[in-house]
Amino acid sequence: MLLVESRAVFRRRRFHRRKAHLLLSALRHRAAELGERARLVQAETYRDALAEIDEPLQVCTPTSWAAEEFVRSMDGVQVLPERGWVLTRDEFAGWAAGRRRLLQEDFYRDVRRRVGVLVEPDGSPVGGRWNYDADNREPPPRRARRLADTIPLPEPWWPVEDDIDAEVRDTLDRWERDEGIAFVGSPDAQSPRRFAVTHAEATAALEHFVSQRLGAFGPYEDAMLADDAWMAHSLLSVPLNLGLLDPLDVVRRAEQAYRDGQADLPCVEGFVRQVLGWREYVWHVYWHTGPDYRTRNTLHAHEALPDWFADLDADAVTARCLSSVLAGVRDEGWVHHIPRLMVLGNWALQRGYDPVALTDWFHRCFVDGYDWVMVPNVVGMSQHADGGLMATKPYTSGGAYINRMSDYCAGCAYDPKVRVGERACPFTAGYWAFLHRNAGRLRGNHRMAQPLRGLDRLVDLPQLLEQEAARGADPP
Ligand SMILES: Cc1cc2nc3c(=O)[nH]c(=O)nc-3n(C[C@H](O)[C@H](O)[C@H](O)COP(=O)(O)OP(=O)(O)OC[C@H]3O[C@@H](n4cnc5c(N)ncnc54)[C@H](O)[C@@H]3O)c2cc1C
Ligand code: SF4
Repeated sequence: MLLVESRAVFRRRRFHRRKAHLLLSALRHRAAELGERARLVQAETYRDALAEIDEPLQVCTPTSWAAEEFVRSMDGVQVLPERGWVLTRDEFAGWAAGRRRLLQEDFYRDVRRRVGVLVEPDGSPVGGRWNYDADNREPPPRRARRLADTIPLPEPWWPVEDDIDAEVRDTLDRWERDEGIAFVGSPDAQSPRRFAVTHAEATAALEHFVSQRLGAFGPYEDAMLADDAWMAHSLLSVPLNLGLLDPLDVVRRAEQAYRDGQADLPCVEGFVRQVLGWREYVWHVYWHTGPDYRTRNTLHAHEALPDWFADLDADAVTARCLSSVLAGVRDEGWVHHIPRLMVLGNWALQRGYDPVALTDWFHRCFVDGYDWVMVPNVVGMSQHADGGLMATKPYTSGGAYINRMSDYCAGCAYDPKVRVGERACPFTAGYWAFLHRNAGRLRGNHRMAQPLRGLDRLVDLPQLLEQEAARGADPP
């Protein structure tokens, strides 16, 4: 088994230090597990590493267009099918053939039927419904600072660091000191690793989540609390994306929890939907839409990311939601789905940040970020830059949504109901400015008809546009 640690990967792009730690730790733990069966080559580039090998090699299809092209260009390397997915690319192509839109809900139901997860013998969904989204959109409990204040919810599973993690820290310190390699993220390199990096750790994390936290996952899936970043989320994206867990095992384990009475159906269905629906769907959208999908930009968004955003300078930001979420990325390289979509993505969409630059930023700053998963999530889902292939309307909202789904607004200098003036919420004002800028492009979308009618009735639109133009690229 050949394992390659390439310094050039980290030299070329400024990744989050916590992400670099996880990748090196996973590689070195795997090398230690395999012992003499593995050779770990630490080299500048993959090409340098391969030059040291004179035996024929096989590689599983990698997870990005660029890496696939690279391995296919190498002499003497046999490329095997990808691993760790429920459907093959051909099976997805068969499903997509002849469809005008690749709707996630249709895909999800089809996969559930195919693999028989939460499905009765006659092919109908267990419990009579495919979708429990309506039960899974609760705001956070009132007056709770943390979810565990109101419902029984143990801490997430945390790993115990070992000598390999200590060696990784030394390596990263040395790279920063002597090799000119720079990272983003909190300079506090000593805070502990949060995510599983071995199969044994990943299995323990899954078991802990399913038996102790899954029962709280569903209703508060979309809720945000300033003092509770993890809420009832699984923290399994890192081990899943490192290939340490098979997604089908993960959803079958969750299904078992439902059958054993450990968790209610809406919670289990909500979780199965994330893994079997969204994750699998996003993977196939990445390959199905081709390498040019990443550069789609149907809303013509070309603004550069301002330094405060790019450098995760949370302290420069007054808006409590954005400051708090940026601080989460700075400190952990992770925030859950809704802060990614409805705070960071929403902000970038409203401000017209360039989707390619934004995808690169998300990829580098998030511990679970890879090309296959960031491109559809950022370009398609969050920035609507694909013209609506993934989402029927842009995911944007004013402060009212953030106010309903979080406790951020209560302690903020702005007011989500105010759109002009000193207390104007930058998300509320940004929402209308976004609609105004894109009105021509969105008029044909019937789901945008009502918001656009609202825009036409806005009496203070000229003052609002002036205010937002004056804000420019400054932190809100
Ligand atoms: C703008 C944006 C960028 C994102 N970037 C990534 C990324 O780089 N890597 C990544 O794994 N997820 C990404 N996601 C999806 C999702 O936010 C994370 O998977 C999730 O927050 C990880 O935390 P968790 O493991 O606790 O997830 P949970 O909330 O516990 O969900 C369970 C699992 O479902 C899967 N999942 C759910 N939604 C998605 C999705 N849209 N795409 C892929 N997997 C999904 C993940 O594997 C996750 O571990 C992104 C979402 C948005 C809106
Ligand atoms: S008032 Fe606006 S800026 Fe402040 S926390 Fe609420 S949504 Fe965010």
